[in-house]
Amino acid sequence: MTKKHFNQEAVLAFWKKNQKEITRTAAGMVAACLISVGAAALIQPDAYAVYYNGEIVGYVQDTAYVDEALEQMKASVMEATGVQEVTIDRDGLTVEQFKEKTKDITFSDADALTAALVEKKAYTCEAYTITVDGTPVLAMNSEADAQAVLDRVLESYSSANSKILEVSYKEKVEIVASDAKDLQMAQDIDSAVSYILTGTEDPRTYVVEKGDTLWDIARANGMSSAELIAANPGFNPNYLKIGQQLNLVAMKPFMTVTITEEVTQLESIPFTTAYTSTDTMYKGQTSIISAGKNGSKEVVSRVISENGVVVSEVILSETVISQPVTQTAYKGTKALVYTAQGRSVTLANPMDRIVITDRYGASRGSRRHVGIDLSNPKGTTIKAAADGLVTFAGYKSSFGKLVIIDHGNGMTTKYAHCDTITVNVGDTVSQGQKIATVGRTGNATGNILHYEVLINGKNQNPINYLDY
Ligand SMILES: [Zn+2]
Repeated sequence: MTKKHFNQEAVLAFWKKNQKEITRTAAGMVAACLISVGAAALIQPDAYAVYYNGEIVGYVQDTAYVDEALEQMKASVMEATGVQEVTIDRDGLTVEQFKEKTKDITFSDADALTAALVEKKAYTCEAYTITVDGTPVLAMNSEADAQAVLDRVLESYSSANSKILEVSYKEKVEIVASDAKDLQMAQDIDSAVSYILTGTEDPRTYVVEKGDTLWDIARANGMSSAELIAANPGFNPNYLKIGQQLNLVAMKPFMTVTITEEVTQLESIPFTTAYTSTDTMYKGQTSIISAGKNGSKEVVSRVISENGVVVSEVILSETVISQPVTQTAYKGTKALVYTAQGRSVTLANPMDRIVITDRYGASRGSRRHVGIDLSNPKGTTIKAAADGLVTFAGYKSSFGKLVIIDHGNGMTTKYAHCDTITVNVGDTVSQGQKIATVGRTGNATGNILHYEVLINGKNQNPINYLDY
């Protein structure tokens, strides 16, 4: 615990702990007091009631106890809080002779009276309070310390490699000299800065380990996932990184530091690749002629952040330091030939005109497009890509009207969404033979041929087998 609370519990606790030392001189008086109490039933002794701001603090038999207790109160408050300017509030204090019967009252000794005076806060304590929009947040012993705390809070949000253009508080932040006895009292600048920045007394963090899930971390720390997310502004819950530090307690800084800064960063400029077509290589094959190299640029931007969270970013200038070097490469244009068991199959285009409207691998929600879509007017002829045996010809759910041809040695082609089918199961077809016409049967968005190429049941990218 690096911080002391300026509240009565802390002062009382401190008082109790140090009671023996502080009250050494009071010991004799306690003994005297006990003897007097014993005699109370027979003889009406002197009795005084002590009030603070109209409320009873205790009853004493000797008014000397009151001064003793007040000095002890002052000493313990100063010791517990570190505040030098503690003043006994004598104006609020009244001591009156008590004329009623005393047998029903309990007399206080100096120690008991001290504890009661601490509890009633019979003092004023001059400190320097940091207020946010008029609400006191915490107090420091000196104005210089309070100012140092505010300076440190502002500094804490500045980033390296940046030129600060403007720093301000969003709220009205002031240092006010005032009675601080009901306030959070910080003992040193470090703990005050930490208190203001975190807004909590016990900021805890967690470092993400392998196998952790957000839910596990939240549950292990008595938080909900939503609370954990809220405690970590700017954190993407779908992207938990090993070694990442998470706040376990929601950080609620007492003030909002707005910083406008000019940030200079070096960014990379990715190189592009220029391809030279060659029919000496198959489709899908590339070969680098000369390697590319990323360039770099210096980007200057104006960044506005609130408590470290970027709220606006404007690029002011970009200066190229080095240009990227374009990579050059060969790209094959020769349609793939499928070879198995000494037999080669070259697929011909299934239609004369090739217009690709949806590529292989395109997203289909949670799945991927396993063929390519080729657009042509309704009724356009669809031809067998190679010699083969028709193994399916008919309607099949979302495929609509579908033809499947087995070309042997594990190679198969599929033709979906057809308008009409002109072959039957069991027919032997030859390359280029009409098998169907383009339509939009099944789950099709237009007149398209959904074309698939499979080897041993595994989908291939048909574009590598097309000649276009
Ligand atoms: Zn498709």
